[in-house]
Amino acid sequence: MLPVRDIVRKPGEMREHSLVIPAPDQWGEGIVSIPKGKELDLEVRLESVHEGILVTGDVETEYEGECGRCLREIVQPVEVEFQELFEYPGGETTDFEVQDDHVDLETLVRDAVVLSLPFQPVCQPDCPGLDPATGERLAPGTGSPQQEPLDPRWAALRELTDQDGSADTAAPNTEES
Ligand SMILES: [Zn+2]
Repeated sequence: MLPVRDIVRKPGEMREHSLVIPAPDQWGEGIVSIPKGKELDLEVRLESVHEGILVTGDVETEYEGECGRCLREIVQPVEVEFQELFEYPGGETTDFEVQDDHVDLETLVRDAVVLSLPFQPVCQPDCPGLDPATGERLAPGTGSPQQEPLDPRWAALRELTDQDGSADTAAPNTEES
């Protein structure tokens, strides 16, 4: 909620606000959402016009959830712009009205953010997803050592480890003597 008392019915007057507030609820019902309490970084401009208060702004926050392909947990930034005319009460009933001496931005900002959330979020644009046969995560384009178990060098290391395991059986003997 932002106070507008000082610009109500003063067309041409303008106020700007920068504020950081926690999300009052979880926003979004999909694979990703804005968790309750997540920081919302708001830049808002309030302009007094004849019909009411024109609200223009943008919000920056982060959504959290799962990559739709590989199910990895992801946190991605999201920035959305919004604009809405909050009308003075008395005319036709609208969704957005100037209430006494303030405007309530929650519905406006929530709808803008929720609409911007991706239906099919991915951890990275070229996420290869899961192997349809094994359900394992496929290596991304560059690959990583952990996901290349067939590398002969790793196979050789595994054999070394096995040999160490058999050598350990000699250890109790040395303790006994
Ligand atoms: Zn992914």
